[in-house]
Amino acid sequence: MTSLFDDDLPVVRVALPVPLRRCFDYVLPPILQRHYLPIGARVLVPYRNQKMVGVVWQRNVEPDIAPEKLKMVQELLDDTPLLDEHQIALANWVARYYHAPIGEVLTLMLPTLLRQGVPAHLQEEVCWQLTKSGRQVDPSQIKNATKQAALIKELQKHQQPVPASILRALHFTLVQMTALADKGLAQKVLQPKRGAAKVDLLARDSSEPVLAEVGLALNSEQQQAVDAVKACLDQHQTFLLEGVTGSGKTEVYLQIIAAVLKQKRQVLVLVPEIGLAPQTVDRFKHRFTVPVLTLHSSLNEKERLDAWLLAQSGKAGILIGTRSAVLTPFYDLGLIVIDEEHDASYKQGDGIRYSARDLALVRGNMLNIPVVLGSATPALETLHNAKTQRYKWLKLSERAGKAVTLPEIYLHNVQHKKLRQGFDLGLLPVMREHLESGGQVLVFINRRGFAPTLMCHECGWMAECQSCDARMTLHREPPKLHCHHCDAVQAIPRQCPKCFHPELSPMGAGTERTEEALEQAFADRPVYRVDRDSTSRKGSMEKLLTAVRSGQPCILVGTQMLAKGHHFPAVSLVLILDADGGFYSSDFRGLERMGQLVTQVAGRAGREQRRGKVVVQTLHPEDPLLNLLAEHRYPEFSAQLLMQREEGLLPPFSYMALLRAEAPKTEDVSAFLNMALNSIESELSASPELEIIGPMPAPMERRFGRYHMQLWIQSSRRASLHQALEKLVWYIEQDKLSRKVRWSLDVDPQEM
Ligand code: ADP
Ligand code: ZN
Ligand code: ZN
Repeated sequence: MTSLFDDDLPVVRVALPVPLRRCFDYVLPPILQRHYLPIGARVLVPYRNQKMVGVVWQRNVEPDIAPEKLKMVQELLDDTPLLDEHQIALANWVARYYHAPIGEVLTLMLPTLLRQGVPAHLQEEVCWQLTKSGRQVDPSQIKNATKQAALIKELQKHQQPVPASILRALHFTLVQMTALADKGLAQKVLQPKRGAAKVDLLARDSSEPVLAEVGLALNSEQQQAVDAVKACLDQHQTFLLEGVTGSGKTEVYLQIIAAVLKQKRQVLVLVPEIGLAPQTVDRFKHRFTVPVLTLHSSLNEKERLDAWLLAQSGKAGILIGTRSAVLTPFYDLGLIVIDEEHDASYKQGDGIRYSARDLALVRGNMLNIPVVLGSATPALETLHNAKTQRYKWLKLSERAGKAVTLPEIYLHNVQHKKLRQGFDLGLLPVMREHLESGGQVLVFINRRGFAPTLMCHECGWMAECQSCDARMTLHREPPKLHCHHCDAVQAIPRQCPKCFHPELSPMGAGTERTEEALEQAFADRPVYRVDRDSTSRKGSMEKLLTAVRSGQPCILVGTQMLAKGHHFPAVSLVLILDADGGFYSSDFRGLERMGQLVTQVAGRAGREQRRGKVVVQTLHPEDPLLNLLAEHRYPEFSAQLLMQREEGLLPPFSYMALLRAEAPKTEDVSAFLNMALNSIESELSASPELEIIGPMPAPMERRFGRYHMQLWIQSSRRASLHQALEKLVWYIEQDKLSRKVRWSLDVDPQEM
């Protein structure tokens, strides 16, 4: 038996997309033994009566089962590795740090089509090339079609046919391409896609410029920031670029990126939400001659695969993407930028709950490249790292461009005032004044729907969700009661279900109701609503942005979607209706979020000539923290919060994990969590810094008819926390109580 597996064991360890914390061993068939089987290539293997696509994780392993029980690899799907060494190291890091099955990590890293086994080369692709007359034509002779002329100019730069995907990334449309074909100047050809070769960005002639337009002349703080990062391009260093809203952070990114592109290396830019930032994407496309790709949730599987392959093969110069883009492979990544690094969307909310910001730092470290974190309101974790000099701290203290002064923030006391539709009617005159002098008004209310609930004033009945500890939100468009937690929908009752009183009234206000009230108060002005309901249709956000950018006086009503990185030049007044929420939050991050929100929303005001004004409705006008925000002193505000965290030994002064569990019966949940608690009892006595709180009910205990509870595990040392978690997960998986619940482990939770 040993003779078969002697020196060069033909056994490979394969990672399979299954939720188990292990890999599986397979023996190579003779035909593949002669083949060089690269680590990171996909193979087809039998797994429980089915064929499955897996990735070769290790070669020549000592099999962990009896050799005669080993099954055989059926097919090799890639002749070059799909995941390189760095990607595999990254996957292993994710699995270890988040205590996640390697198979689930694979699912994160590979686009669906690759997991289904489709070929991973950019195969045949549509390309465009000039005809003979196209090569001879002078682009300036093409009248009334500047984009067509630009397209000819672009095609004339290349000897080879240019892939349509690249032309699209360069901002040309199919209509423009076919128009040239109709004129007999260009033609479509099918070309085999090139594999992982240095092409396009990388194969460019180094004399070819990467800039399509010159950058702005930087002010001295911007210049210092750019120089600081440029001096570290070949090493790992994290930078915090802290700059007030409108201080020109994006311009700093652009100029650093230019330097990286000149080295023929690629750049990854993470943004919170792309659909909301088309202007930012356009700024990148206009600035550079290299292909700029975007990767976000509304792409289909084919587009996702293409983007993945274009980044992997080095064809894409810049990839702009949301959270999951952090795991994209690159041919030669030279820089990672994370815009609005404090944004909560960088944390994955289910499955493997990774933080894209933290993964970016890990990648930066592994690849020895700089990472730039930008924000006007950095997360307390990031500030702590900057203060302790783990990150280099770059500051932009003034607004660049035309908006020189920050807006005035006024705390509007609503104690003893009756609010109508969520706001004090005393604010209508100031709104009118701004509209009449040509400004736009932005009204921010962090609740969608018409009203938080429906109520009977006769008997006190309120519309509650039958499956959750929550009220149902009243919607008017279309009319319904909707639970925002379990998605249950009910018709609006005509009378009180309890006392049959014929009249039910909405209680409180959401975006729809505020919109309606403002439409009545300002009949002659357009009112636009921006929330998840109003923007769910494709393109509706674009349309709205166009209307707003036209500069006509109007009112915008919306949720925090409005706070994310938009540039609304004509907004001169911002009303924040419900800032106080942070004071009552059960989450220790509540105040931090409030500060970020107020500062970010305020940053939307007065970005051009006119000084903006921000009005914050509050019951706590004397609160010292709120007053710091009103004086644009987020740095002092966050310093105070950091002190409180230090006193309470909360993150970033300790490390935390949350074990969550849910089941239809509360006994099952608490039995499970108690078992989990017992399993690490011995760790507790060995590491005095380890602390466990719970089991306790989750903030909303009953959701969708299931009971939710949690266990907090906290430590001042990361190592002892992870040791305990490893043990915990191992025990849980053995114990049959775990089969009665759904459980998940959240390392560095962002929500309690
Ligand atoms: P941030 O990303 O910090 O919010 P932006 O990069 O969007 O800021 O810049 C805000 C505005 O200032 C933009 O209109 C931008 O074109 C302009 N701007 C930035 N830097 C400069 C500069 N050095 N000179 C002139 N205008 C600038
Ligand atoms: Zn009633
Ligand atoms: Zn519900």
